[in-house]
Amino acid sequence: MTDESATVSQTSSPLRGANAPHYERFLDCIHCGLCLPFCPTYAELGVEMDSPRGRLYLMRAYTDGRIEMTENYVKHLYLCLDCRACETACPSGVRYGHIVELARAEIERHHPRPDRVRRLRDLVFKRVLPSARLLAFAFWPLRLYQGLGLQTLIRQSGLLQSLPAGLREMEAMLPRLPRRSLKRALKPVIPAKGTRRYRVGLVTGCIMNEMFTQINVATARVLAENGCEVVIPAAQTCCGALHVHNGERAMAEALARKNIEVFEQAGVDAIIINSAGCGAHLKEYGDLLEHDPASHERAAAFSAKVKDISEFLAEIPLNELMGPINARVAYHDACHLAHGQRVREQPRALLRRIPGVTLVDLAESDWCCGSAGIYNITQPEMSMRLLARKMSHITAADPDIVATGNPGCLLQIRYGAMRDKKRIEVVHPVELLDRAYQAAKKGV
Ligand code: SF4
Ligand code: SF4
Repeated sequence: MTDESATVSQTSSPLRGANAPHYERFLDCIHCGLCLPFCPTYAELGVEMDSPRGRLYLMRAYTDGRIEMTENYVKHLYLCLDCRACETACPSGVRYGHIVELARAEIERHHPRPDRVRRLRDLVFKRVLPSARLLAFAFWPLRLYQGLGLQTLIRQSGLLQSLPAGLREMEAMLPRLPRRSLKRALKPVIPAKGTRRYRVGLVTGCIMNEMFTQINVATARVLAENGCEVVIPAAQTCCGALHVHNGERAMAEALARKNIEVFEQAGVDAIIINSAGCGAHLKEYGDLLEHDPASHERAAAFSAKVKDISEFLAEIPLNELMGPINARVAYHDACHLAHGQRVREQPRALLRRIPGVTLVDLAESDWCCGSAGIYNITQPEMSMRLLARKMSHITAADPDIVATGNPGCLLQIRYGAMRDKKRIEVVHPVELLDRAYQAAKKGV
């Protein structure tokens, strides 16, 4: 188990302070290797240092002061998807995601990055994502690009072929952005249909709110159909998941404190989220703030209320007045729902309750599609390899619709379907439920 340039000489600067995991968490790993066949990067590359066991070895060696933070060390830790499939496979309960996120925070503290990368990271993580106003502003050029018909023109002109492959892929992934007027459907309080049985808070997310407003609208409508008064606090902010996955821990903590305060004031029974990556992170606010006595208990109480939309609907008596959707549906498990939150059966059970839906098996349904937050931007080659693997399984399952509960997976698999010229719709499960309720109303 060696990696020459990562395993360098002695150092006196071990991973420590706020970024040091409890050392026992390394000792949980008994080096059995049972996680290796489930790790997408190990499956693709066959390199020990691109496996969970190898990466744990590297992080522990760094913490012990036995190796330096070399380029290679950074490369292996950032080639990890943070998909947490290794946690599901591990018989020893290793909290891999928690450890790698702390290691990345350490990297961002000590590893020099080119000025332009540092400035771009600061702009995105510290200015744009935490500000709903700036985020909406950042999407304006894209709305104009689509709204003025430039996207169609440029795509037809072949001009895109002169762009680098990475930029071409990003352009191709851009979904049709929802109309701004959709956001008006999201009032601060949406009343329950019929008797109010629950008062729930809806986390609207940042990317979800800009790119997939229709999913938030569908979520609110489905909750209202099921006796929920839906509260959408205007002061909520980005959950901080992208920050934690990319080593920006201090900012993530500030965002968490803000959200805790906002949802405490909302006085809700449950906090509902429809994005798997955000949900897994919101459920770990207690861990994020474990070193902060002033916030830890409140963070744990907040996290205890967080439910993925499918998890919540599976726990309450469901309104069964649905119209039919006659389609073969394949369900792709978003990593942070299956591995991060252990929510696997609930979305499938909900889909099976829609009349007309035939749920078809999808091989490796809980393998990462290569989206993984901003991984498809930072690691395009591995991302596309994993997308190709996912698309081959989707092709074999031959569905009309792929359903998945995470915005990154939606973008990635839609791109895969478009690139492979597959006539497959890719939607969030809650959109299908909403469609079924609307169909019942229209008497379809
Ligand atoms: S998080 Fe995913 S990519 Fe990273 S080591 Fe674990 S299984 Fe492999
Ligand atoms: S992380 Fe878990 S499964 Fe993987 S080698 Fe360590 S103990 Fe074994």
